[in-house]
Amino acid sequence: LYIGTMKIQEDKLENIAENNKNIVENYLAQQKGEKKINDIQTHELTQKDADQFFYYIEDSEKNLIIADEVNIQLRPQILQLLQKWNPKKVDTHQEKLNINYSELKTNRDRDNITLSKSQKSREVRLMIAGHPIFYQKQYIGMLYIGKDISFAYQLFHWLLVVLIILVVLFFGITLFISHLMSKRSMIPITNSFEKQRQFVADASHELRTPLSVMLSSLDAIEMTVDTEKNNFTQKLLYNMRNEVKRMTKLVSDLLTLARSDSDNLEKTFKTFDFRPLVEQVIDSTRILAKEKNVHIHLNAADPIIVQGDPEKLTQLLYILLDNGIKYNLPGGDIYLNVMIDLYQQRPTLFIKVRDTGIGIKQADHHLIFNRFYRLDKSRSRQTGGHGLGLAIAKLIVEAHHGTIEVLSGVKQGSTFIIKIPLSRKA
Ligand code: ADP
Repeated sequence: LYIGTMKIQEDKLENIAENNKNIVENYLAQQKGEKKINDIQTHELTQKDADQFFYYIEDSEKNLIIADEVNIQLRPQILQLLQKWNPKKVDTHQEKLNINYSELKTNRDRDNITLSKSQKSREVRLMIAGHPIFYQKQYIGMLYIGKDISFAYQLFHWLLVVLIILVVLFFGITLFISHLMSKRSMIPITNSFEKQRQFVADASHELRTPLSVMLSSLDAIEMTVDTEKNNFTQKLLYNMRNEVKRMTKLVSDLLTLARSDSDNLEKTFKTFDFRPLVEQVIDSTRILAKEKNVHIHLNAADPIIVQGDPEKLTQLLYILLDNGIKYNLPGGDIYLNVMIDLYQQRPTLFIKVRDTGIGIKQADHHLIFNRFYRLDKSRSRQTGGHGLGLAIAKLIVEAHHGTIEVLSGVKQGSTFIIKIPLSRKA
């Protein structure tokens, strides 16, 4: 709109300049004998337009022949604008003119009227058309017409401001409405997710009791039946015990996940010494490690005062050590580092578990934290995993506002690094 309107204005101004130039050239052509451009001075040749700011005709030496402007005191300023502009044919361009009313001698001065700040100076936008004048194909002068386009300029300026405000406003309204709508449409999904979560939590909880009854029944059978004599029964009981244990672990993992989905982990945070718990986890994994001939090396501060859920942080360590043993090679090592890093912005609990096992290829690094994700599904029965351990580990770390990352490559072992920010008081 701006460009179109300005183009129309330019064409109009160029037309006026063209007409005026023709009038001057025709007048000179009609006169007999050698005529100079100065002769037109006495003749009323100009056509005046309503918002015309100035009208000048200069001779080839840049002397003013005809001059007309809204205020004669602005003439030096206007001539300065035109000084460097000598179009070869009809042309237009825009200029800015700063009018300082306090410097101009106006009627107000005589009447002693004081001007406000905005009244004291004004910026005028000018559209200027220039047209060279020729007499017998010789350049004899230049015609300039200036038009005040401040109003149109201001109008477009404010239109742009209003449009931007409207765009921002409508964007905000659209965002608000879409947020409202999406929230509404999410209600049934949230409800069904909540129902599903509750179902998993209830089912896991209910399954725990029969499973522990089955385990204790198996113990009782082992005690009463002379299994040593019956190899077949011994094998059956061993398998049953393993499967029940696996199921118990799965059920307790599912229960942890279902509970963490409802975000009630943080409520159990407290300040405690983590060191004894670290040792306890190592002790409880020792039998498993011994079975696989894996050596665990601990390097930890004493004490390790942290804020968090002791039970969950212990579970986190257990998951990582358990994996370190399960996915290690016979005779392998696990290096466990637990310390408080004071050189971060905030004191940070730093846990590093490095093993010398089979490793994980780069492409799988982000997948191993997904629920039920196992790299080698055929090994699950062998290793007893369901692909829930690292998903739970990640949830525990996130509930403590920390990060977990893995550094690993195939056959290069794996390193899990956990950073949990602590409060400054500790
Ligand atoms: P799982 O119960 O199967 O161990 P996790 O969630 O703990 O489930 O681990 C997901 C997968 O990530 C595992 O199946 C295994 O392939 C891989 N993984 C986890 N820890 C290690 C490790 N220390 N070394 C090699 N692979 C690992």
